[in-house]
Amino acid sequence: MNGKYWNEKIETMPAEELKKYQLKKLKEQVKNCYENSIFYKKKFDSVGLKPENVRSLEDLQKIPFTVKNDLRDNYPFGMVAAKSDEIVEIHASSGTTGNPIISAYTQNDMDIWQELMARSIYTTGGRQQDVIHIAYGYGLFTGGLGFHYGAQKVGAKIIPASGGMTQRQIKLMKDLGATILACTPSFAVYLAETMVQEGVDPRKDLKLKSGMFGAEPWSDKIRERIEKEFGIEAFDVYGLTELCGPGVSIECSEHKGMHIWEDHFIVETIDPDTGEVLPAGEEGELVFTTLTKTGLPMLRYRTRDISKIETEKCKCGRTHTRMMRVHGRSDDMLIVRGVNVFPSQIEYAVMCFSELATQYLIVLDRPGALDTFLVKVELSEQAAKNPQLDKNALKNSIQQRIHIVTGLTADVEIVKPGEIPRTEGKAKRVLDLRKGKM
Ligand code: ADP
Ligand code: ZN
Repeated sequence: MNGKYWNEKIETMPAEELKKYQLKKLKEQVKNCYENSIFYKKKFDSVGLKPENVRSLEDLQKIPFTVKNDLRDNYPFGMVAAKSDEIVEIHASSGTTGNPIISAYTQNDMDIWQELMARSIYTTGGRQQDVIHIAYGYGLFTGGLGFHYGAQKVGAKIIPASGGMTQRQIKLMKDLGATILACTPSFAVYLAETMVQEGVDPRKDLKLKSGMFGAEPWSDKIRERIEKEFGIEAFDVYGLTELCGPGVSIECSEHKGMHIWEDHFIVETIDPDTGEVLPAGEEGELVFTTLTKTGLPMLRYRTRDISKIETEKCKCGRTHTRMMRVHGRSDDMLIVRGVNVFPSQIEYAVMCFSELATQYLIVLDRPGALDTFLVKVELSEQAAKNPQLDKNALKNSIQQRIHIVTGLTADVEIVKPGEIPRTEGKAKRVLDLRKGKM
């Protein structure tokens, strides 16, 4: 395979044809859920819905939502639609929020996951001659193995580094000639920082050409920094355990959102408070329906991820709908002094200052009646060495910027480089000490 697309016919299928294909698959999926999943049979019966009532894509809206708690309440196999011995692999969510959620894959599901990851890697320019350094965690988390399976299908050389041992990873990236880096954006930033400390120049000493970063929210400002520091092209990649793991959507080289692989998923956006379906282009919670999964199919699964979708055809030629950057989950949203704030808004404010490193920490507390709102930021190595730096002026500017972005006045504390703890997986940006004081 040497062209622009991994699967040209599917990726560039005219929208109308794609819709017809989706409807055919949706009918099959609905029937399968009703006949083989006790959970879905009950759900359909509770609203008097029969599979044959789903005759158009719009009819999807007749099906009640599936939520995270359904998976928890029916743990481990209550929602499975396949026979026990058809399940060949199980993964679990990284547990950033609440109990783990498991995903049970049949061989069909594994094949599709691998195909979609291969398609995603290929879309970002990954080819057989590439060396892909996978620093997403291996194990139950879908990140490491998801990339692994996809890279295997592309035929690339795989370095299954997983998380941890940062210095060792840098040495391996250098010595083994990594051309693609796959990890969380926060780990990429950490790698870049550590390289500088180790005297490795990521632009000169490495052969990296691109990176596939996802599994957590990140901003265009972080992208700019990663691209500049490594001298690479950065791609956003999205997925969740409940749908397969990574491989749900991928950014193309136009960098105008991530193409959702619509031959396997239907996406809707809803108002997270009312459940009302929103038109394309409006920001809301993403809801996905799987079209081809047989182990743990999901009908109208509420992701809690806030984004918006773009149905205009992309310049890359792919016809599949795009989703814009995920700002965060509705459950990540903080309410500070009655105002809604996403950590990504703070990140945006922090990233506007070249004197600051990319780490930050939001500390919330409620010692009395009012919330305290502290944003800890770190000086960059360079700024820390600058004797002329006016820290007070910098602090005021950061405060102002946070105020512009959120409408709130934050306390800002500027700390030395390296003082805010780093993580090797998904970053932890919020320390909420108000819990139990509400
Ligand atoms: P957990 O829910 O425990 O974190 P997962 O590993 O399944 O488990 O994580 C999936 C979630 O990670 C998504 O629902 C989303 O909130 C977040 N995520 C994944 N990819 C991205 C991305 N590219 N941008 C923003 N958030 C992402
Ligand atoms: Zn595109």
